[in-house]
Amino acid sequence: MITGICPGSFDPVTLGHLDIINRAAKIFDNVCVVVMVNLNKRCFFTVDERIDFIRRSVAGIPNVSVVHSDKLLAEFSKSMGDCVLVKGLRAISDFEIEFQMALINRKLNPKLETVFLPTSEEYLYLSSSLVKEVGSLGGDISGFVPREILGDLNSRLKGGKYHGKRD
Ligand code: ADP
Repeated sequence: MITGICPGSFDPVTLGHLDIINRAAKIFDNVCVVVMVNLNKRCFFTVDERIDFIRRSVAGIPNVSVVHSDKLLAEFSKSMGDCVLVKGLRAISDFEIEFQMALINRKLNPKLETVFLPTSEEYLYLSSSLVKEVGSLGGDISGFVPREILGDLNSRLKGGKYHGKRD
């Protein structure tokens, strides 16, 4: 049994993330989506909100679970048995940082491999930041996020408040 681990901030989950999760779920026995702490990012949504949004979005995919971790990914993955990291790549700019992360993760945990899935072309431009920007200015984000969370996202984004802590 091999688990594909999909890590990220998911602030919030988008159709681009969901596409990668869906495709990973067809390749691996199980997929574990891990909501991580990113010290370089100030998140709009709390960890609990982000987990809830992802859980509702993946409810129809039986082999996907969602967890939170504040550990290093290289450490977290040691508790997951046979696993690989699954990362989505949008553009060359993603590649540079993801390539660096893959090498660092393997340095920290030599058993940990990373596989990259190219984005589907309709999500090439899509990011969580774009969803927050468009949504908080009252724009239509229905083409960017899973429909299960659209209403809640819209109401939250209209409030316009960033979550205080960096998680
Ligand atoms: P981080 O905060 O670590 O950048 P994100 O939550 O932004 O994490 O993204 C998590 C993962 O999802 C990353 O591997 C990122 O490349 C991928 N991803 C984000 N948006 C898309 C998209 N539109 N298409 C494909 N992959 C994406």
